Amino acid sequence: MNRAQGKWIWMDGKWVAWEDAKIHILSHVVHYGTSVFEGIRCYDHPELGPSIFRLQDHIRRLYDSARIYRMEIKYPFEEMERTHCEAVVKNELGACYLRPVVYRGFDNLGVNPFGKPVEVAIAAFPWGKYLGPESLEKGVDVCVSSWRRTGPQTTPGMSKAGGHYMNGQLMKMEAVVNGYAEGIALDTQGFISEGSGENVFLVHKGILYTPATSSSILVGITRDSTLTLARELGIEVREQALPRDMLYLADEAFFSGTAVEITPIVSVDRIPVGSGARGPVTKAIQEAFFGVLDGRRPDRYGWLTPVKGTTAAQAAGAARATAVAAGSGASRSTREGE
Ligand code: PMP
Repeated sequence: MNRAQGKWIWMDGKWVAWEDAKIHILSHVVHYGTSVFEGIRCYDHPELGPSIFRLQDHIRRLYDSARIYRMEIKYPFEEMERTHCEAVVKNELGACYLRPVVYRGFDNLGVNPFGKPVEVAIAAFPWGKYLGPESLEKGVDVCVSSWRRTGPQTTPGMSKAGGHYMNGQLMKMEAVVNGYAEGIALDTQGFISEGSGENVFLVHKGILYTPATSSSILVGITRDSTLTLARELGIEVREQALPRDMLYLADEAFFSGTAVEITPIVSVDRIPVGSGARGPVTKAIQEAFFGVLDGRRPDRYGWLTPVKGTTAAQAAGAARATAVAAGSGASRSTREGE
């Protein structure tokens, strides 16, 4: 993967040149992984211009992640929304990736995070296909990881926290050294959990399955979008505990995530998934998903926030109003658990 490169990064109220966006080496985050973050994509929509996908849901998850770790984000929601839009404009970007991060900075060493300042940065930069340019069509080969996802009694999986990704790195490294694109972890009970940075879906006898929130998953926003679009397509969906065997017996499988979007899984542990190529349900969901992003389908749920010409809050309001006017009755509450 190429080195990320943008122009400006917002750091606690200031736009700092990319090269100068630095923190002190003794910052708490460097030693103890004390951060929460998001990965967000902006798409170049033909009518709306650059538009951020599910910005409000991502920002809400950022606040939720911080809340679990008792980190107070000192900026109001609307300012965070606006700043994400500004990050795209200021960096003169169209389609891109946004990375907000909230972390504990420097005060003194010691595990106790209290008293260490909570700082916020927002970066925007170009980013291509996470698992390679052909992965969306050709799919990827994956393995079941020998590493388990951490249990709910160890780290809170619903927080997208930096430190949690040490576990994900072990999964990813093991997969890569063994020649796989990605690893899928089981939860502490042995049920399917997720990839190092993606949720997992399976199609079996026409039903779409994905692990429930009790299987130590990050509750993905793309997962929620997938469930919403699948229901719209008339596909039966089930969120439940899934034994590992289902990976080998599935007719189709795919990953969902901001980085991977919807990426087919074509083999697990060298056993082909179904026919060993992208299947029809995966393709239909991809078309529905990318259709919203490239303007071929209406944005029924107000998922897109255009970055230009208006404040983010106004844009989000307009998008929701359009969604309601379109008769979908949809709102931001499509998020898991709401
Ligand atoms: N699980 C993990 C561990 C992740 O890092 C991600 C990426 N944020 C996901 C699932 C997918 O979440 P989302 O669709 O919100 O990007």
